[in-house]
Amino acid sequence: MRVQLLPSSFDGHGRATLDQRLTCFLIDDCVTVDAGSIAIALTSEQREQVRDIIVTHPHMDHIASLPIFIDDLYSTLREPIRVHATPEVIELLERDVFNWNVYPRFSGLSNDYGPVMEYVPIPTGKEFKVAHLTVIAVPVNHIVPTVGLIVTDQKTTVAFSSDTAETQEFWDVVNKVNEVDALLIEASFPNDMAKLAEVSRHFTPATLGNELKKLSQNGLDILAVHLKPAYREKIIQELKALKIAKLGVMEPGKTYSW
Ligand SMILES: [Zn+2]
Ligand SMILES: [Zn+2]
Repeated sequence: MRVQLLPSSFDGHGRATLDQRLTCFLIDDCVTVDAGSIAIALTSEQREQVRDIIVTHPHMDHIASLPIFIDDLYSTLREPIRVHATPEVIELLERDVFNWNVYPRFSGLSNDYGPVMEYVPIPTGKEFKVAHLTVIAVPVNHIVPTVGLIVTDQKTTVAFSSDTAETQEFWDVVNKVNEVDALLIEASFPNDMAKLAEVSRHFTPATLGNELKKLSQNGLDILAVHLKPAYREKIIQELKALKIAKLGVMEPGKTYSW
């Protein structure tokens, strides 16, 4: 399985930087987990292939350019963009984003070939299919309804925490999987911002270190994501100080294969 955290920031020459302001993971060039930078960082080939988007929760950094992505493709789509999300998240997207005020309600619109956007409600705690992938969504501990995801192509399994603070069910499901190859987990704030991390339900390196004690899988790659750009270097130093084997930081723009 190939996974890329799409870049979301560019320097004066248009080159991608390591600052991660938006969240969008591209899997095997055709499925994404979240859609923060989906309209700004895909190649044209990828843009033609991505038709399935799993939205973990409706925060702006995870959906910012989703409406623009559908808008860009509007007249050429031969099949709808499928937005896979829990019923609660679908309701929030319809109420707060695709509401004719912030952007058009694409779920009710068609081009010459048919509907341009379709919601696919997903269950929690049991398997569902998205393209060639099998996925389990598990509610995590964030300030809006949010799911973590365990994604497998039958050979490789990758777990995505999404945005969360201390949680349990996610680990119960991850620990039950035969073999997890990689865990992509959030580390949003440095340790001295623990208060803000707590009220906004995110991890610091310290709380992440505690949380990882719940993980019973061995030997997997653990990559921190969702580092607030203003504190990136500090968070990286604090993660290193945890001295957890195979814990690194995911590099936006780089394709990882497991
Ligand atoms: Zn969030
Ligand atoms: Zn976020």
